[in-house]
Amino acid sequence: MSDAPRVPADVVAALDRAPGRALMLGHVHPDADVLGTLLAIGEALQARRWSVVAGGPHPAPGALSFLPGVERYEVLKTLEGAFDVAVLTDCPNPDRTEGLIDAAKRAAPVVVNIDHHPDNRRYGTVNWIDVGAAATGEMVYRLLTALGAPLTPSIATNLFTAVHTDTGSFRYSNVTPETFRIAAALTAAGARPDVVSAALYERRAPDALRMLGESLARVHVSDDGRVAWLALPAGAVPERFIESEELVNYPRSIGSVKVACLLRELGGGRVKVSLRAKGEVDVNRIAGGFGGGGHANAAGCTISGPLDAVTRRVLDAVSAALAAPR
Ligand code: 5GP
Ligand code: MN
Repeated sequence: MSDAPRVPADVVAALDRAPGRALMLGHVHPDADVLGTLLAIGEALQARRWSVVAGGPHPAPGALSFLPGVERYEVLKTLEGAFDVAVLTDCPNPDRTEGLIDAAKRAAPVVVNIDHHPDNRRYGTVNWIDVGAAATGEMVYRLLTALGAPLTPSIATNLFTAVHTDTGSFRYSNVTPETFRIAAALTAAGARPDVVSAALYERRAPDALRMLGESLARVHVSDDGRVAWLALPAGAVPERFIESEELVNYPRSIGSVKVACLLRELGGGRVKVSLRAKGEVDVNRIAGGFGGGGHANAAGCTISGPLDAVTRRVLDAVSAALAAPR
């Protein structure tokens, strides 16, 4: 029934062994794909009597506080003690762990790298990269199935949320028949699509719509209508608001737009850039040109410089990419 490639034997073998101590290591600014998959694997290992530490350089955002077990996700600055295995999910390169990957490599003889990013650097001792997977959540569903791990409602909810968010609620071009088969299996196992959707999209703070209005008033559209961008100066809106809104989706939603950009001034002279495309332009290549990465239709980078200068550089790169379509 499944079109998906098999789970590599070395990935299964890395986890299918006598219980020990496992590290679930997340990337910077963790999203639902990394958190959901780490929490799911962690729960499956704990059920097999493993001792599990889950965490990463940044805390789980409040918008994902509903993920089962997320209260166990720690902010890690260093690693304490040795591990039998370390698992990283959805993390294309070691830079995205702020140095913790090096500590993990010293602390654990086996580092498992499970990811769907095309630019994954294969930094693990075991690497499983499936660029055809819409989310790492799909891969971890297949891994837990291969391990014969019971799919509890909490595991199902974590993996369903991972798939739900990385596919833009099952709307993006990465969605395949396999995505729906996995979502169906997760729903049968106890994930509640209505509860997940409400938790993701219907928990706004009372002042959120006012801030949304103020933010969207800053959206610009290019004369030809193909590029829309939103540049937010530092402090224009609170961090918790940005974390809970996928603001880049609004410029993306304009019909004529081929590339949407969100540029957020971080302070310290740095600007975080999020890029979205609709198939015509590979924004992963644009982000890669600035030292970032991602996927063809969703990518990001952080660029040093004042907001208006960075905006101009990014828009120039987008124009060049639009002039030479892939
Ligand atoms: P977002 O725009 O939501 O932050 O990220 C969209 C996609 O781009 C995600 O797949 C994420 O992994 C990737 N991405 C965002 N920022 C960076 C970055 O600074 N470096 C790399 N390598 N990937 C990024
Ligand atoms: Mn992902």
